[in-house]
Amino acid sequence: MDLFTQKRNELVKILAHSGIKDKKVLDAIGRVKRELFVSGEMKRYAYDNHALPISGGQTISQPYTVAYMTELLEVQPGEKVLEIGTGSGYQAAVLCEMGAKVYTVERVSELFTSTAKNFEKLHYHITMKLDDGTTGWDEFAPYDKIIVTAGGPKIPKRLASQLKPDGLMVIPIGDKNLQQMVLVKKSINKDGKAEYTVKKFNEFKFVPLVGEEGWK
Ligand code: SAH
Repeated sequence: MDLFTQKRNELVKILAHSGIKDKKVLDAIGRVKRELFVSGEMKRYAYDNHALPISGGQTISQPYTVAYMTELLEVQPGEKVLEIGTGSGYQAAVLCEMGAKVYTVERVSELFTSTAKNFEKLHYHITMKLDDGTTGWDEFAPYDKIIVTAGGPKIPKRLASQLKPDGLMVIPIGDKNLQQMVLVKKSINKDGKAEYTVKKFNEFKFVPLVGEEGWK
């Protein structure tokens, strides 16, 4: 077993001890080579349970955060999942390993280009767009699940409207320093109108969600 595989298995154990219970999430993390989503000098830290810098002044989320959000989404094989904030592509790859059909939007062109190349190289079939994701991606809507991997000031309405009935969206909401993880569930009431229920979870620190329905 190579060193990265050994470290990856250790990381999965750490995540399980930190409270991640969903075996499918842990297995997916056990299959994605995080060292292939960071630059050369960062590879040796790939399996530390930390966020790491990527290009464009952005970060690859901490593995615990990726596991936490993925667990909240209850992803089932074949589901359509929209991610806002592609970044390194690591979170999208984890969703792919869970059997989801993944769509992802990134606003920083440098990251979009390098991650697109990496997905191709690693044979991840993920549909990507360079745009402001705070207004979602109408073309492929509705989605079973939506995951926003940058922190916003409020729940972006147009994005939430692109959920299927009973669909779930996970998004960190707060100020620029600290955000609370929020799980939004869409349901349709007896008059046929969409309703959204909101549950709040732990606090995290994300890079800002910048855009029309995010930070200006
Ligand atoms: N999921 C990523 C996390 C990257 S950090 C990973 O696994 O590596 C969050 C990303 O969100 C950054 O790349 C940032 O550029 C992007 N972002 C911020 N606001 C955005 C917006 N409105 N639309 C799309 N991407 C956005």
